[in-house]
Amino acid sequence: MIEEKISQKAKNIKPSSTLAVNKKAMELVAAGEKIINLSVGEPDFDTPDFIKNAAIKALNEGFTKYTDSSGIKQLRQAICEKFKRDNNLDYQPDQIVVSCGAKHSLFNALFALCDEGDQVIIPAPYWVSYPEMVKLAGGIPVICSYKENFKMDINHLKKIISEKTKVLVLNSPSNPTGIVYTKDELEQIAEIVLKHQIIVISDEVYEHLVYGGLKHVSIASLSEEIKKLTVVVNGVSKTYAMTGWRIGYLAAELSLAKAIANIQSQTTSNPTSFAQKAALAALTADQSFVLGMVKEFEKRRNYIVENISPLIHYCKPDGAFYVLLKIGNSSSTELAEKLLVEEKLATVPGDDFGAQGFIRISFATSMENVKETVKRLNQFAERTK
Ligand code: PMP
Ligand code: GLU
Repeated sequence: MIEEKISQKAKNIKPSSTLAVNKKAMELVAAGEKIINLSVGEPDFDTPDFIKNAAIKALNEGFTKYTDSSGIKQLRQAICEKFKRDNNLDYQPDQIVVSCGAKHSLFNALFALCDEGDQVIIPAPYWVSYPEMVKLAGGIPVICSYKENFKMDINHLKKIISEKTKVLVLNSPSNPTGIVYTKDELEQIAEIVLKHQIIVISDEVYEHLVYGGLKHVSIASLSEEIKKLTVVVNGVSKTYAMTGWRIGYLAAELSLAKAIANIQSQTTSNPTSFAQKAALAALTADQSFVLGMVKEFEKRRNYIVENISPLIHYCKPDGAFYVLLKIGNSSSTELAEKLLVEEKLATVPGDDFGAQGFIRISFATSMENVKETVKRLNQFAERTK
């Protein structure tokens, strides 16, 4: 009876598979199973003490009330400075909206942009939440196919652009593939976007997690014209090991930023007051402490690519902390199930990332777990070849 009352919109949405597998894996571990949980993508490091202390100080000082619903001015100012420092982008605080995680920023941006039936191009393999968010916002996800190296097939992109195309979602470094677009590749994409005047939502949450001396380039930094069309989304979850604090942010052209700020003011209001103070401490500190974490991720990535069996099909990730891989010809779900039952590895099936036959592992786990994972993957590949 009640089920009939649930909106079609809600019924059309799949639950997040990354979070669902994580929940299942944590339950199995709690029940005493010796599972290695490679499902959810969050740094295994603790939030640095100086960041925690900034929140504790804010609490002790009574900073526990509503704030400006787009985030405190000081934090929006610090975010402008971060954009200048890291991406050479100039924004004013009114162009910044701070939200409850980058996930929330992405949703707000899509909600502000999509009218019923507008098309949003999502290059596969994509993060599980993009298509579902587009549907919730009333848009239609249109998937762009990928090449051997997991990068966008530009010819396909050109083919699927229509008058209904409103947005292109770009995610570099990418979840789930770890690919990082070069400046040249971004220029090629920017040219197409400018020609058709499409908005780019550029999800840059993994910008600092790049390896082998690579540097992340924001598509918005290529020219003033493309900057106007771009919504840059970022957050503190990945860079500062702050996934549970729920602080993300975006920068956009002023009229769009205002529309997004209005949506937020009528829905969630401000992100948690004292978590904003913690984010402020993180963003304004000397950033060298981030390098230690990045080096550790790079060591793990290197271990994987140097030791993984040639029987396993994958692309070397240049960023983020995921490897999308394939063993044999099973479906993603079969492969994930077999790995869970036979090797006690919790992985996420690639179907929900638009990558049939693949599974995703996250190497945001200890080096000991990484070594054991490679051993188990290799023995599985050997056994099932
Ligand atoms: N974008 C991508 C590509 C992600 O993998 C994630 C996952 N955490 C997010 C956005 C959202 O991050 P958060 O909401 O924790 O800031
Ligand atoms: N983005 C991470 C992941 O893909 C966190 C979980 C989520 O929000 O999807 O695992």
